[in-house]
Amino acid sequence: MKFNPEKCRIADERKKPFIDADEIWDHINSAQPTKEKVREIIKKSLNKQRLTLAETATLAQAHDPELIEEIKMGAKKLKDTIYGNRIVLFAPLYIGNKCVNNCSYCGFRASNKEAIRKTLTDQEIINEVKALEDNGQKRLILVYGEHPQYDADYIAHTVKTVYNVKSGNGEIRRVNINAAPLNIEGFRKVKDAGIGTYQIFQETYHPEVYKEYHLGGKKRDYDHRLVSLDKAQEAGLDDVGIGALFGLYDWRFEVLSLVRHANHLEACYNVGPHTISFPRITKASAIGMSDKHVVSDEEFTRIIAILRLAVPYTGLILTAREPEHIRREVMEFGVSQIDGGTKLELGSYSTSQNEEQNLNKEQFTINDSRSLNEIIDELLDEEFLPSFCTACYRLGRTGEHFMEFSVPGFIKRYCAPNAILTLSEYLMDYATPDVKEKGWRVIEENIQSLEGHKHVKTDEIRRRVELIKNGERDLYF
Ligand code: SAM
Ligand code: SF4
Repeated sequence: MKFNPEKCRIADERKKPFIDADEIWDHINSAQPTKEKVREIIKKSLNKQRLTLAETATLAQAHDPELIEEIKMGAKKLKDTIYGNRIVLFAPLYIGNKCVNNCSYCGFRASNKEAIRKTLTDQEIINEVKALEDNGQKRLILVYGEHPQYDADYIAHTVKTVYNVKSGNGEIRRVNINAAPLNIEGFRKVKDAGIGTYQIFQETYHPEVYKEYHLGGKKRDYDHRLVSLDKAQEAGLDDVGIGALFGLYDWRFEVLSLVRHANHLEACYNVGPHTISFPRITKASAIGMSDKHVVSDEEFTRIIAILRLAVPYTGLILTAREPEHIRREVMEFGVSQIDGGTKLELGSYSTSQNEEQNLNKEQFTINDSRSLNEIIDELLDEEFLPSFCTACYRLGRTGEHFMEFSVPGFIKRYCAPNAILTLSEYLMDYATPDVKEKGWRVIEENIQSLEGHKHVKTDEIRRRVELIKNGERDLYF
């Protein structure tokens, strides 16, 4: 079955490709970031309106330190007012690293003869998931190389396998996937297996530059990858994640393209991406990358702040590719999800004891190898509210009618209470004594801050926390 652009409800958006590199550069080159303009744009975003490409370009071209600071403060304010202090936690689970493609930045690429290939057996998947559950994880993203063995049936099988693993009070309640593009039937299969988000990164949105990095296999076809989320939508999979790999090309171009992609999905299907990822390249097995487009820490913070302002309703994912101090610093500018206790080596959650990474067995270097408990400890110290909530996806609150933030009071009514309930479970089942103590204090403070809100019944939250203390699990609003 072929992708049918006619499914897009907006005529202008049916033109392909919807990313026009010249148009994006024109926006960047013609931006004039005066103080007044930048302030006006920040104000628009604080009114929870998406930014246009021209407005996003104005923010990306603001190089005056004073304006950069205002952009960061704007993003912080937007995060505080829309998202509150919740941070959703997840872990990646690599299922197989065989790959037919040749992406020059990736340790799994077919031409890398140093790579040690492995696909987890069902029993190994079960062992890994048990180990993850025993740590307190509730949300996973399964990751696959691109290989005929990892077809839609296989992916669906692994997703179901994960959902069936229970260890003590542990269970995985949401399985997302990051995998190569599927066809429409394939997307239907993985949707039926119960995936949450289908995530795929365009890597670089510049069609010519894309060719320089993608040297073999199906992934060489830029358009095939670009329209994969349109196909997912056509298959009824309306929960999707986009991303760009920062370091391949000019970061301003990628930021504008991510916004363009988000706007395209919104225009066509009435629902934007659920999440945006912005990984920076880290070292991988036998790669030799030029550092021409390296993104500095300072630019990385700006990227996050600009994305936060440009797409106020989209979740932003920050991963353990980034070191501890950067994660700490940038989180307040708009990140909504992070991973914790991350291990990339296939099979290592159940077998390794915090050994050094062996890059021949892993896709790339991670720079934050702290355990989930350590990450939660720090989040609590910084007054964040760690959350393992999976309620919306399980209650079918996805797609255009349930964009979390479009419903007034939604966060206070559902997200914050569910964060409190899932953190309570974590504290009862997995936390160390000092994290437990901090956690209950943060929960009490958060319940108090919800007191008096017209949509929230704090008595009911307290009642459910008590039920969890007495052994009940999986309570949600
Ligand atoms: N094979 C699938 C694909 O290419 O879509 C799965 C992707 S891969 C397992 C997940 C993402 O990791 C890639 O899309 C890429 O953006 C990122 N990645 C690859 N090499 C990387 C590196 N050296 N440093 C950081 N991220 C990298
Ligand atoms: Fe394969 Fe994905 Fe790595 Fe490319 S990024 S080599 S497709 S695993």
